[in-house]
Amino acid sequence: MGRIFVFVNQKGGVGKTTSAINIGAYLAEAGQRVLLVDFDSQANLTSGVGADGSKPGIYELISGKNSATEVIQETSVRNLFVIPASIDLSGAAVELVEQEDRDYYLKRSLDSLRDQYDFILIDCPPSLGILTLNGLVAADGVLIPLQCEYFALEGLSLLLQTIKRIQKGLNPHLDIAGIFFTMYDQRTKLAQDVVRQVTAYFKDRVFKTIIPRNVRLSEAPSHGIPISQYDALCVGARSYKSLAEEVLNRGR
Ligand code: ADP
Ligand code: MG
Repeated sequence: MGRIFVFVNQKGGVGKTTSAINIGAYLAEAGQRVLLVDFDSQANLTSGVGADGSKPGIYELISGKNSATEVIQETSVRNLFVIPASIDLSGAAVELVEQEDRDYYLKRSLDSLRDQYDFILIDCPPSLGILTLNGLVAADGVLIPLQCEYFALEGLSLLLQTIKRIQKGLNPHLDIAGIFFTMYDQRTKLAQDVVRQVTAYFKDRVFKTIIPRNVRLSEAPSHGIPISQYDALCVGARSYKSLAEEVLNRGR
């Protein structure tokens, strides 16, 4: 039975999509069967793995217009598959709000795929709206990327309240699988302070690997390939490889 992880942070630009792509790619390279799910109408994950966003994707799957086999695409990495997103997904958010079982759409679609994958990784939009709630309901574990800055902490407490609320109601099995730092700049004292504070509070919930700011990580998506195929030796690649190993060990 595959494990479903969701990347959540209501702040944009903290590294959700970059992390989903690269952790997914390294898990796949380690021999795991991985399905990436783009659940953001910006479709950055879709283009970041070179998938075709004009084909039916996650919106068509959750709304029952297409089957899973019709929406799953291969990527340049063996064992790494993707369900793309398109701008249509923003319409789904509006349609879902009117449904009584609105929080369960993604879960229903993904549960039937669990036995075909070792990991299903969901990339969420930068909000705590209906799509992200669907992600939290569908998942076993939340992965929280944090940028090392003061405002990251403010957002974190709201996110944790939301997770608690979901745990008490819609998804009692939901676990905080881990918090990790992205775009770390070791030259700033603030970044060091944030890492120290968050680690003191969340202890072993915090992954040991810290993802540094690395320009190669921001270049890879425009080529539609993960960092492992763009520049396997850069510091960003080595960091995501190590983070993926930690995720793999926790997922077991
Ligand atoms: P989110 O999905 O949370 O909005 P992204 O993963 O799209 O965040 O990252 C935001 C931007 O920062 C993107 O342009 C991405 O390429 C870039 N980026 C992400 N992680 C890093 C990093 N470690 N170093 C440098 N640039 C990064
Ligand atoms: Mg994103």
